[in-house]
Order: sequence, then C-alpha cells, then structure tokens
Amino acid sequence: MNEYDSARLAAVLELHGLIPAIIEKADVILVNTCSVRAKAEENAIARIKGLKRFKIENEKLKIGILGCMAKNRGESLFKDLPFIDFILAPDEYQKLPEILHPTPYFPLPAFQEFAKLTNNHSAFIAIQSGCNMRCSYCIVPYVRGREQYRESGSVLQEIEEAVAKGVSEFTLLGQTVNGYRFKGLSFAGLLRQVADTKGVERIRFMSPHPKHYTGELMEILLSEPKIAPHVHLPVQSGSNSVLKKMRRQYTRENYLSIVEALRFSNPLYGITTDIICGYPGETEEEFEETLSLLQEAQFDSAFMFAYSPREGTPAASEKEFLNEEQKKARLQKTIDLQNSITLKRAKLMIGQSEKILLEKPSRKNPSEWVGKTGNFKKVVIDIGAIPHCSPGMYIDCVIEGVKGHTLRGKLSA
Ligand code: SF4
Repeated sequence: MNEYDSARLAAVLELHGLIPAIIEKADVILVNTCSVRAKAEENAIARIKGLKRFKIENEKLKIGILGCMAKNRGESLFKDLPFIDFILAPDEYQKLPEILHPTPYFPLPAFQEFAKLTNNHSAFIAIQSGCNMRCSYCIVPYVRGREQYRESGSVLQEIEEAVAKGVSEFTLLGQTVNGYRFKGLSFAGLLRQVADTKGVERIRFMSPHPKHYTGELMEILLSEPKIAPHVHLPVQSGSNSVLKKMRRQYTRENYLSIVEALRFSNPLYGITTDIICGYPGETEEEFEETLSLLQEAQFDSAFMFAYSPREGTPAASEKEFLNEEQKKARLQKTIDLQNSITLKRAKLMIGQSEKILLEKPSRKNPSEWVGKTGNFKKVVIDIGAIPHCSPGMYIDCVIEGVKGHTLRGKLSA
C-alpha cells in the first residue's frame, strides 16, 4: 500500500512540474513511513535524522513525513525531528498542494486518483483502504481508519489506461482486499470485471483475509484462468485459542479448509503466509499447533516474526511470559521448519511447463532473465535463443532445477 501511495504521490508531483532528483539536489523530500512494527518506525526515524544534513546544504529544501507513522506519532515527531517541515497522515494527502505552496511549482489542483505504474508491465491498483478488523496486535486500523472502497468504474478506468501503456499484470491492493464491496458489487464481481477487461493477462490481489473467502470468491478463483494461482493469506497462528485472543475471526479448521480447496484444484497453487511466534500467553502446546499447521498447509513461503508489542494496541497491555530469547527460539524453530517446506515445494516444480512473466535481466549473467511463474515463484531463465527480451514479455519455459529457493528454467522447445 505504501509503495502504491508513494507512486501515486510521485505521479501527482510529476504531473505538476516536479521531477525526480537525486537526494542531494532535491527541493522536496517526502518520507513515506510504515508503522506496522515498532522496528519500522525506529528505522524510519533513523533514516529521517540522516536527512538533516541536506537541509543545511539547501535552504529551500522541504522535508515531509507521510504515512502511518505520521498518523501514529502526529505532532510529537516535531519534537524528535525539529528540522522537518510538515507531517501528513494517509488521509491528509489532499493537503499536499496547499502545504508545498508557495514553492515555485504550485498551485496544484486537487489531489486525484492517479496511479503511477510501478514498472512497464505490472501495476498495483488500490481498491480498498483502511481495515474494519481489530486484530489485537495490529496498529493498522488506528492509523488507516475504517474500510473505504474505491468506485469500480475508477478501478477499471485505471486498468484500461495502464493496458494502453502495455501493462498486462495487475495486483489489486487493500488491507483486507477481499472484503471489497461497492454498490452491490462484491470482490468476486470486481475480479470478474477485471478479468473481462481486454489486455489483462494476469491478476493478483493482496492481502486477503480468511474470513472473506466466500463461495462466490472460491468459484471465480478456481475457474478464471487469468487469476494467478497464488495467494498471500496471513494465518498468524495455528492454535484456535491464540487466534481467538488475536481476534482473527477464523479458526484453524476454517483456514485449512481454504488451503485444501485451493490445493485440491491445483496441487501447485502457491500459498504464502505471515506467522507471529510467541504471542502473549502462547503456551508450548499452542506453539506446537502452529508448527503442525505449517506441516499441514505446506506453505510455499512465509514471513515469520517474533511477537513485539505495538503500543496503542490491546495486545500491548497483555502480560508476556516469554522473554526475547524464548520468543526468538520459537521463531528460529518456525523458520527452520518453513525453510525445509519451502525447498520441498520448490522441488515439486521441477519438470513443470510454466508461463513466465519476465521482469529484468539477471544481475550476475546478462544472458539470463528473472521472471515469475503464475504461482509467484522466482525463476532464472537462460534466454539465449531470444534476440530481444523486455520486461513484460511472457515466455514458456520448463523448470529444470532449484538453486537456493530460486527456480532455474529453460525455454520450452
Ligand atoms: S486484518 Fe487484522 S492484521 Fe490485517 S490490517 Fe486489519 S487489523 Fe491489521
């Protein structure tokens, strides 16, 4: 979401005469921050402190802090970072023109829905912002507000404009993206309309919530070939009692039934997830249930974290019984298990014919390109026989092997 917001802001600024600059020459620096973990905020603060020297060298320079940390910390940021000029929370970006005035580049017209493409073949499209869930450990609902859904006509228009510029892969974005609804149109209905848009080849979405896996959604996921066979579906814990404390609103059984349906339709369906180890009060047995869920679900990969309290969330006031070392030990056990599963899942791809969307040449070897399979696996391919490769090309290849967690492919005969 932050990448999308940054691109959107950059596009609006470019539209009005600002051009991208190397940081030493910039007259405006906007830092779009993440607040999801305390560590992310600490990193952002350290990074912003490093910008102070540019202020000394360029008197005109304006530094603005944007994003969730701006919302979460508000005016107190001026105390820690007295050299910054302004802070803008995600729901305040409309004020940017007014704030940057009277720099020579303005006035800007009102901030509008406008997407800058992340590259020339693949685009993120925000369809929903905010979150109505109240997961006990999560700060997002407090900084991003309640769910808002974008008008479907504007979504489709943005996609059509991107298709006209050569984009063929679209990722629909939202905090709980599959909770999307607009005037009677469900997320499944929107997916249908996107799939029916001429020029759209591959559709992804991020991040769905297990609670919103309706029958209608499953039906289109399993029947529409343009929807890539991959989902990042955060589970967080394999224990029903921990899930309840986390207020996740599903059970282990609900979650595994989604996994089972997707893998029944396609055993190579890519499923990735997020895991929190050492949630307050998590017992050894509850932790073991997470490990057993990893075994059952056979995730293709996972983002795994040791629990860290986020000030302002209900979980932060819960008593912790594990110390940092114990949490880290659980995390390490989880990572070790998941790494072995990730490798096993990658090896299942050997011998498969895959349609790869090329992204960029390999840094190590110019005759190799890097791309992604439909199920979101990175592949390195020797493109020797193709004279002109470009990002956004689809090529057919056969998976020959696995190196690390990356697949190696060769062009199909
Ligand atoms: S679903 Fe839960 S974890 Fe995800 S953004 Fe909403 S509150 Fe946070």
